[in-house]
Amino acid sequence: MHETQTDSASHPATPLVDRYGRQIKYLRISVTDRCDLRCVYCMSEEMQFVPRSQLLTLEELQRIGQTFVELGVNKIRITGGEPLTRRNIIQLFDSLGQLDGLNDFTLTTNGTLLPQYAAALKRAGVTRINISLDTLKPDRFHEITRVGELRRTLDGIEAARTVGFKRIKINSVILKNRNHDEVNDLVQFTLDRGMDISFIEEMPLGIISEHNRADAYYSSDQILQDIEKQHSLIPTTETTGGPSRYYRIDGTDTRIGFISPHSHNFCDSCNRVRLTAEGRLLLCLGQEHSVDLRRILRAYPLDNRPLREAIIQSMDIKPKGHDFDLTSQPVLFRHMNATGG
Ligand code: SAM
Ligand code: SF4
Repeated sequence: MHETQTDSASHPATPLVDRYGRQIKYLRISVTDRCDLRCVYCMSEEMQFVPRSQLLTLEELQRIGQTFVELGVNKIRITGGEPLTRRNIIQLFDSLGQLDGLNDFTLTTNGTLLPQYAAALKRAGVTRINISLDTLKPDRFHEITRVGELRRTLDGIEAARTVGFKRIKINSVILKNRNHDEVNDLVQFTLDRGMDISFIEEMPLGIISEHNRADAYYSSDQILQDIEKQHSLIPTTETTGGPSRYYRIDGTDTRIGFISPHSHNFCDSCNRVRLTAEGRLLLCLGQEHSVDLRRILRAYPLDNRPLREAIIQSMDIKPKGHDFDLTSQPVLFRHMNATGG
């Protein structure tokens, strides 16, 4: 990596600005599309995963991460699939964690492997962790994840708390008649542990047959109303650099976020791009505009300039926003596990 050539002098300090004036400061890296769970909103029953031979190596992932940081990105989130299932993944955390200019280094995980890895992640410099948890009922957890055991995710949450990350946030996808009755229990769970929580509206990524996404739609506004029956919420202007709108529960340190692609479109303030595990740079979660960075990496193993150039050029194809529509079949065949949340 250190032998690669760069030409930082010829670029402005923050060259990653798109056609709509949005500055890109945030990269999400999916390190694998595989997972030890099969959540019903994320994956279909039968999934075809990318052959391992087509995945970027850990060194290539590091090279891309470093190049983005040199181009002004100051936040990286590692996601998947389940990132902690990728072999030797701590090596990547260790190397990215040392990058100058990276202020916020975060992970999204289902938590099952945190008992094993939480301490190493903290040592590597991970500042905040998002852990997905949609229900506190073991039977339901098994149904929603198709294969999972609630206990393992709860143990993972405890392991993360013990290690002491700056902030832990629970991510909950709420589906009507599935887990909408647990909104306040999930809020209480996070309150009791001094954590934050974000509620996510289901997005129509990939074809699933397990449920009808339109029927399962449960809006952020409805969730807000449910919570306000029990708590006084104060809107805040705080941001973690992502798409969540935040409220604070009065008298506590707990923040409640809403990721509402349907009811409150967040595209105007989009500051992020995503890298898939096979090296496709996706300019929008809800569109297919992308650049194949793997081809460039492999064509120029010792020269970083073409990679930098390709990333800068990609700003010209970042779309204005997504066109999510729950009522029609998705135009995107890509499931969420391919891109990361
Ligand atoms: N496996 C890790 C996890 O579950 O946290 C990381 C990857 S997962 C794809 C990232 C986030 O996306 C999770 O919080 C998950 O609940 C959410 N997610 C998955 N499919 C979704 C969908 N179709 N709509 C909205 N959120 C989704
Ligand atoms: Fe796996 Fe996360 Fe998708 Fe669930 S949401 S199947 S844990 S990648």
